Amino acid sequence: MKKILVTGANGQVGSELTIALRNKYGPQNVIAADKKPVLNKLTQPGPYYYLDVRDVSALNQIVETNDIDTIFHLAALLSSVAEQKPQQAWDVNMNGLINVLEISRVHHCALFFPSSIAAFGTETPSMDTPQDTIQRPTTLYGISKVSGELLCDYYYHRFGVDARGLRYPGLISSKTPPGGGTTDYAVDIFYAAIKSRHYDCFLRADTQLDMMYMPDAIDAAINLMTADSQQLKHRNAFNVTAMSFTPQQLAAEIQKHIPEFTIAYNVDPLRQAIADSWPKHMNDSAAKVEWGWQAQFDLQAMVKDMLENLRSTQ
Ligand code: NAD
Repeated sequence: MKKILVTGANGQVGSELTIALRNKYGPQNVIAADKKPVLNKLTQPGPYYYLDVRDVSALNQIVETNDIDTIFHLAALLSSVAEQKPQQAWDVNMNGLINVLEISRVHHCALFFPSSIAAFGTETPSMDTPQDTIQRPTTLYGISKVSGELLCDYYYHRFGVDARGLRYPGLISSKTPPGGGTTDYAVDIFYAAIKSRHYDCFLRADTQLDMMYMPDAIDAAINLMTADSQQLKHRNAFNVTAMSFTPQQLAAEIQKHIPEFTIAYNVDPLRQAIADSWPKHMNDSAAKVEWGWQAQFDLQAMVKDMLENLRSTQ
């Protein structure tokens, strides 16, 4: 990786990934691009472009002008937004991806594509979910992710594009707000705990899902993209997880730091149905064996760090 493009750089993952890449590879070597006209303050300094990933000629021009060799393609509509705007989500998630794959083919770029726990479905084993298993998602977002995994593998086998991906679980960050996913509660709860000591959760108390703290998610993306290609048997996409908990368990962990914190449940049927179709806990042994994946933050460490960071900035 010498010259890197990050699409969707203004989002929850992109803001922090851009900083990490700029620290590692130099600010001028990491080009941030997003459909939002102004770059999130977090990612300064460094080059920034307005880009709609559906515009293949604009994408081509950025890659050509900047001599890009690696693309982190993050631009997408997330799960609950995608259920509200399914046609637009298909357009952005699939046409954006195929544009990025084509540009990667023409300009010989390596490509990172984040998939998700949404790429499974109700027929997938929900505990110890295998790396290779049945994937019949019932959400538009999940359908776009499993299609994306297949398309990336197709471009690797057919055209030699070095496409690699992760199936991220819900991501938790103290720096950037989430962008409309089903696991957003696991971020919102911290802001509520600090501000009002109470949170109304939109998922049921016993909804168990895989999660990961953002520093681990960023490391995972960079480590996968710098891994020895010869060691990768899988490519799109690796199961990765760091912890698996329910809202009730997360609330109990927060109460160890804020004893007066309370939680109530006001279930949103749409997001509950999405969560119920996802695995509870993935098996990520393929990532551990093939490129040395190891999370640093478990539930206890993540909660402590989130509260410390948010208290120092609120
Ligand atoms: P986000 O919604 O916070 O950010 C997405 C960014 O993409 C936004 O800044 C948005 O402006 C941009 N965008 C949307 N449409 C665009 C378009 N047409 N052209 C260019 N930019 C566009 O999402 P995120 O949480 O940062 O997720 C990044 C990636 O990681 C996505 O592909 C998502 O599916 C995947 N992922 C995220 C999570 C999570 O919990 N956050 C979990 C699994 C996978």
